Amino acid sequence: MKAAVLYEIGKPLVIEEVELDEPQENEILVKLEATGVCHSDLHFMQGAMPQPLPFVPGHEGAGIVEKVGPNVTSFKPGDHVILLVVIECGKCRFCLSGKPTLCVENLPIQMMATLPGGGVRLHKGDQPINHLFGLACFAEKVVVHERSAVKIRKDAPLDAVCLLGCGVSTGLGAAINVTRVKPGESIAIFGCGGVGMSAVMGAKSAGAKVIAIDTLDSKLEKAREFGADYIINASREDPEVKIPEILGEGADYAIEVIGNVDVIAKAFNCIRAGGLLVIAGMPAFTDMITVPAVQFLFGKTMTATIHGDIVAPVDIPRYVDLFMDGTFPIDKLITRTYRLDQINEAFEAMEKGEVIRSIIKM
Ligand SMILES: [Zn+2]
Ligand SMILES: [Zn+2]
Repeated sequence: MKAAVLYEIGKPLVIEEVELDEPQENEILVKLEATGVCHSDLHFMQGAMPQPLPFVPGHEGAGIVEKVGPNVTSFKPGDHVILLVVIECGKCRFCLSGKPTLCVENLPIQMMATLPGGGVRLHKGDQPINHLFGLACFAEKVVVHERSAVKIRKDAPLDAVCLLGCGVSTGLGAAINVTRVKPGESIAIFGCGGVGMSAVMGAKSAGAKVIAIDTLDSKLEKAREFGADYIINASREDPEVKIPEILGEGADYAIEVIGNVDVIAKAFNCIRAGGLLVIAGMPAFTDMITVPAVQFLFGKTMTATIHGDIVAPVDIPRYVDLFMDGTFPIDKLITRTYRLDQINEAFEAMEKGEVIRSIIKM
């Protein structure tokens, strides 16, 4: 089968034939329909986050189960699944207390880019190839642990709901699960890519007053379509000045989706006393955040979220239903579709800010 392999940090992906092993215990083989192109892959591909080479990136996959390994009871061939950027062991204190995105098993697996059962199922001859996030979705097929997948209804288009595997759930969850914004409260969303736009949708569905901030007018116009009440182009206007002009004070909540420490500090300055900033973007491994310490005396809180603090088996099917009934029009986030052999173009377009979200259709 074909996959996009990264052999060297900062170099283009190589699209080539690789071998995929049979699923082992508690693993499933999924024929992918589509995979979203997410900025987190780029962090690893450019070395901002450490990762053993070579690896296949791609972590917003959706497809159809083709085979199941021994002891798999939750899936059968023909099931439609969304693959998850976060693996949940189901047994640790976090999983058992409703915070599976903090699962203690997840991080080591993700840093090693192997599967929870150990080792890899991808090879090129004798060369083992790692699975970024325990997945490797820029490929025609994947073998993953069954806890990396969630079963969904069969009438949902896989080439749209694949985005729920990471970015869209992160944005929706940051707004709905983490801020828990209430009707009439204000929320400022910094960054209007796929994650930010999903945060706009989530906040809007909760009845919030939404301010969207970006440096590109094209993205801000789109944010209005998704429900933003106010927009601020930060290349022309300072949100720290503009937000109090609009609201009469700082925002009740802010969400930063870029992972840029300067924007994080700016967003923290834009919330009112007692306000909450949620970091939903992924900063580089060595980044440090500098904010005026006195702001904490005003009761401000800064926290971060992995995958929108969702409980995937419960929340993802629910988000799929809310997409199908039109509440969350996540298909409108997809502004470009590429083939697997065009994947390097897809990343270039993302870096240039030309797309809200693009997908690779297998
Ligand atoms: Zn766990
Ligand atoms: Zn992602």
